[in-house]
Amino acid sequence: MSVAFKPLAPGATLGVLGGGQLGRMWVHAAQSMGFQTVVLDPDPQSPAGLVSHRHIQTDYLDPAGLEQMASACQAVTTEFENVPADALAQLAEKIQVAPNAHAVAVAQDRRLEKAHFVKCGVPVAPFAVIASDADLDLVLKQNESHVAEKTRPEHVSSSANPDGNIKTNINSKSSGVSLLPGILKTARMGYDGKGQVRVRNAQELVDAFKKLGGVPCVLEKMLPLKAEYSVIVARGHDGAMVHLPIQHNVHRDGILAMTQVWPGVCDSALEIQAINAAKSIAQELQYIGVLCVEFFVLEDNTLVVNEIAPRPHNSGHYSLDACDISQFELQLRCMAGLPLTQPRQHSPAVMLNLLGSDPNFSNSPAWNKVLALPGTHLHLYGKSEARKGRKMGHLTITAPTADEASAIANQAATILGIAAF
Ligand code: ADP
Ligand code: MG
Repeated sequence: MSVAFKPLAPGATLGVLGGGQLGRMWVHAAQSMGFQTVVLDPDPQSPAGLVSHRHIQTDYLDPAGLEQMASACQAVTTEFENVPADALAQLAEKIQVAPNAHAVAVAQDRRLEKAHFVKCGVPVAPFAVIASDADLDLVLKQNESHVAEKTRPEHVSSSANPDGNIKTNINSKSSGVSLLPGILKTARMGYDGKGQVRVRNAQELVDAFKKLGGVPCVLEKMLPLKAEYSVIVARGHDGAMVHLPIQHNVHRDGILAMTQVWPGVCDSALEIQAINAAKSIAQELQYIGVLCVEFFVLEDNTLVVNEIAPRPHNSGHYSLDACDISQFELQLRCMAGLPLTQPRQHSPAVMLNLLGSDPNFSNSPAWNKVLALPGTHLHLYGKSEARKGRKMGHLTITAPTADEASAIANQAATILGIAAF
């Protein structure tokens, strides 16, 4: 049983489960509007814990930690996808929690997530659930029959038409469409390309399932991507929704490398489709808070939903410097029941991720040269150890035009040892 919702004014104490950079930027937004903050994260050096009024250093499911959180805060949110949904469910019995535990549980499991997309009528990549050796055999058999069928000259491939419960819908989804080459993704706990193996053929699929430990997985057909986009929507307690402009994302090695946002960065019909899809995904979850929806645009210009993140997202960081309301302020307004107004982007923007693996990052990057470029905004997350692939910070470039933002972003990338875009 959840507590009844009450709007909260500045001065109230708000909490976040997870102490990473998303929590840190949320803490900044909350504090600048006069809220007190509490972070729960086991790491004493967590980026958000370091800047919060209070830092509870326990595990996410530690009863004493959750008890402290519930008695200190009037409302709680999450910033880390892999915080157990159960921690939110427990807190929801005592204080207001946004997003709800159910929505987070859906986002945490690719099987539930895909079923939710199907329910919302938003196209997904052809896929199958592989949770056991029997599932694996079934997918391999379907693949074999597809290969045999393909050799017949009059073969016409059928399109998938999913409905019914998760299992049957997912398995029927794969019939008639070969899922190889594909990507085998663990159903749970994946991020930044982790927990994923690209497989070209049946043998590689068998090996990959073993390599991933035989845990429940989703096999997705490898799609011909023309571009990747994301949309951030914010939905309040009253059901009102606003959104940030569509974001064009470039990944390298499965990790977001750059985001570009300006009018015309996406075909306008696709943009409308993506925004509507994101809103229906949020609506159907009775979602409260900031939700990011990732999309693929295929070579034939069709839009496919990839995954959701139940929190602010790396691709929305530019909103801190390029919009009149950032994604972190939106998250704060949603959880506190403050009004949601439609964000306005005032400058074209490029966001570059600063990763621990960038050649110049660990040996004193030339920040003075980067900051000498007009419209550069540096955000570092206070992480001491620059491990390979670790998100250390980001740089947003705002400029009067998209061309100028792109040119300056490439100059900054060169200074930082990041390959040009
Ligand atoms: P993560 O949780 O690690 O972000 P994603 O499912 O978003 O996992 O996959 C990471 C990246 O891998 C995507 O942004 C995209 O570049 C690529 N990718 C994922 N699924 C597919 C697919 N079905 N076809 C082609 N590329 C894909
Ligand atoms: Mg992703």
